[in-house]
Amino acid sequence: MMSQQGRVIYMDNNATTKVAPEVVESMMPFFSELYGNPSSMHTFGGQVGKNVVEAREKVAHLLNATPDEIIYTSCGTESDSTAILSALQAQSGKRHIVTTRVEHPAVKNLCESLDSLTGHKHRLTQLPVASDGTLDLQQYEDSLSDDTAIVSVMWANNETGVIFPIEKMAQIAKSRGILFHTDAVQAVGKIPIDLQTVPVDFLSLSGHKLHAPKGIGVLYVRKRTPFVPFMIGGHQEHGRRGGTENVAGVIGLGKACELAGQHIHTENTKVRVLRDKLEEGLLASIPNALLNGHKADRLPNTSNISFEYIEGESILLHLDRYGICASSGSACTSGSLEPSHVLRAMGVPFTAAHGSIRFSLSVYNAEDEVDFILEKVPPIIANLREMSPFWKSR
Ligand SMILES: *Cc1c(COP(=O)(O)O)cnc(C)c1O
Repeated sequence: MMSQQGRVIYMDNNATTKVAPEVVESMMPFFSELYGNPSSMHTFGGQVGKNVVEAREKVAHLLNATPDEIIYTSCGTESDSTAILSALQAQSGKRHIVTTRVEHPAVKNLCESLDSLTGHKHRLTQLPVASDGTLDLQQYEDSLSDDTAIVSVMWANNETGVIFPIEKMAQIAKSRGILFHTDAVQAVGKIPIDLQTVPVDFLSLSGHKLHAPKGIGVLYVRKRTPFVPFMIGGHQEHGRRGGTENVAGVIGLGKACELAGQHIHTENTKVRVLRDKLEEGLLASIPNALLNGHKADRLPNTSNISFEYIEGESILLHLDRYGICASSGSACTSGSLEPSHVLRAMGVPFTAAHGSIRFSLSVYNAEDEVDFILEKVPPIIANLREMSPFWKSR
């Protein structure tokens, strides 16, 4: 994809990321000479198996977990489904699920369809959020009951970047003997995660959100957590997820996790500085522009800004002509004219929710890209408002 200027400025990293060149390189041999099946008895397959073992160690290291707590899946969505369905099947007497109103569709839509999916009635608590996207811990604690099978709360929100206090929330669930799952797809690689201090039972991550390819994910399952597989088949992943391994994806994810460990400082320094320059620049130069989400408790790479009285889709089309890639709401909700469920849960007024744009940066962004956006966006917004009846009659 090329803009008219032939340049792409990619600030849509919460939708997907560029595969790191080192990751591509690490995967190449597994598409050509190293094509053996890691489960085979022969040396040829065995050398592939050895690489799979090493990759698993790298994933575990990034989370401060042990390799046998790592189960490879096909994506973040599969990891989320596996954790939640496993918790329900392993505790068939319990029918209550606690989650939030701002989860990714991978958790939200699953939880909302559980009754028809399992043939049982479930009680679903979807915790509300404040206008800055944060949760009330007391309300969370009050929602838990003896019937609660699992809590599923995302570590960081994909649309606003708001970070939830997962350590405290998991401790509270643990003290009540309730299983805790976190969708950490947006958090892994952007903020430090130490599963020796954060007592979650399940954690989901996805390769393509941290510079590995699409089609590989991980479900972390803490040792001794009751587990019922989602994919039943061969003995792969110790019988916890059947199917011949996506070897190249596994190797790539291992490399990506190794790089993420090295880059996490950059995410919280260089990337944060660029994000802040972009955000402060836009908010200062454009009237009626509002930040969505808590200013501090937020991922270092994400900025979600509402430009009141205009449509996010129109802004995106104009940005696209300059090769600037961003998102309105979340990619999963665009295509419908409804503002995103996250902004609705935060009570963002329609006039602002419709004009929301998410910029999500990565270590591959540079300052001149931020400068370019700061130069191009204010006139785009001004021109669109010139044509907006809502702006004139505000
Ligand atoms: C992208 C995303 C997912 C889904 O991951 P896939 O690998 O695309 O299935 C789940 N949760 C969050 C928070 C995400 O951002």
